[in-house]
Amino acid sequence: MTTGIRTRFAPSPTGFLHVGGARTALFNWLFARHHGGEFVLRIEDTDQERSTDESTRAILDAMTWLGLNWDEGPHFQAQRVDLHRQMVQKLIDENKAYFCICTPEELEAKRKQALATGRKPKYDGTCRDKKLSKSAGSVVRFRGAQGGVTIVEDLIKGNISFNNDELDDLVIERSDGYPTYNFAVVIDDALMKITHVIRGDDHVNNTPRQILLYQALGFAIPKFAHVPMILGADKARLSKRHGATSVMAYKEMGFLPEALVNYLVRLGWSHGDQEIFSLPELVNLFSLESVGKSPAVFNPEKLLWLNSHYIKEAKPDIIYEEMRPLWPQSVNSADSDFVRKVIADLQPRSKTLVELATAAGFYFTQKVQYEEEAAQKFLTPGIASHLTAIEAGLSSLENFSKEGIESFLQMFVQEREIKLKVIAQPLRVALTGKTVSPGIDEVMVTLGKSRVIRRIQDAQDYIEAGN
Ligand code: GLU
Repeated sequence: MTTGIRTRFAPSPTGFLHVGGARTALFNWLFARHHGGEFVLRIEDTDQERSTDESTRAILDAMTWLGLNWDEGPHFQAQRVDLHRQMVQKLIDENKAYFCICTPEELEAKRKQALATGRKPKYDGTCRDKKLSKSAGSVVRFRGAQGGVTIVEDLIKGNISFNNDELDDLVIERSDGYPTYNFAVVIDDALMKITHVIRGDDHVNNTPRQILLYQALGFAIPKFAHVPMILGADKARLSKRHGATSVMAYKEMGFLPEALVNYLVRLGWSHGDQEIFSLPELVNLFSLESVGKSPAVFNPEKLLWLNSHYIKEAKPDIIYEEMRPLWPQSVNSADSDFVRKVIADLQPRSKTLVELATAAGFYFTQKVQYEEEAAQKFLTPGIASHLTAIEAGLSSLENFSKEGIESFLQMFVQEREIKLKVIAQPLRVALTGKTVSPGIDEVMVTLGKSRVIRRIQDAQDYIEAGN
């Protein structure tokens, strides 16, 4: 049983799914899920020149990755053109639309003249009452309302009033026979029984035109909710110069979908000062009343913070799957238990999966590459005898666990009357090549005894060779 509430996401396939589009999709998805309704996906591909199959695929992939599943579709608008044409014809028959043969050049000249004399450019109605028929190059225009106002009752912005005289006689069918956006969107939303149109507020000026079309066609008018823009830190509309705007670029940079979803929802929606939300929690809490009226500012630092939170919290198995594309072949075919342990070591200290993959390099290498300065400072002849003894001790250590290794090292330094730090950094360099890494006991457990022994031997050889 559904509640009859239906939302839709209606991207034009002219590029990848960007952050703003993903947030629109998410709000529609959450609204539908919260109300036990349905979420429809419609690809608005009537712009034949700019739409590509590749973009459609990219958009579907990104939505799937984010977990925004749709109940219906994808519908392809271009396959519905016959329907749109029928509706255009209906309006022509009812004298609510007419053919116009003004050329683009004529219209441009009139536009320039209007601007030059300080008037607002607007179609002057040249063809409105000429009762023209279809001809090469003709378009179809909607006969706009004369006088009066159209009120958009927006669920986020409140009532917005538009003077009908300011709205043009809208082109509804282009000369190539394809419907324009404002026309096709009304037909499709109406016939698909969309109850709530939630979209970016860059469309708010289109809405009164669409309402007039709903009225002319005798369709029920859906509810509208226009979500404020997303801005960059400089308060300009979010664009590439503020960093990556493509959803899939974030996947490639090692973000988890949960982090991005959590981040996107907070671009405009809030629930007190809570920052971390699971998806079921969002479905439960989401409402349009809690969407803010002012634009949201994109903050990459916060996204990174959320990502490290989700990386830390995730089950190693989830990270393991998500990371497959990031590892080299050798790691993908390595013992999966070992890879999972490496992941678990690095989860608490990685902001992205790419960072995790980079930090993991030393675990998988056959021969540790020492950072030059680290080796010079810590792999010195003075340490050789300690390393020999540690190697022997660890070889015969039965309890090769974190606790076992810790107590072995404690005893070792006590017996030798040295401080732990005398051997800790040399061991770290021997095992990882670096001076910064997860705890050496953790690293040893993950590497396992035989790798540890071999690495300590390699370090001894290195010292002996006098490097
Ligand atoms: N295809 C339009 C766009 O991508 C849809 C706008 C709408 O949601 O009505 O901007």
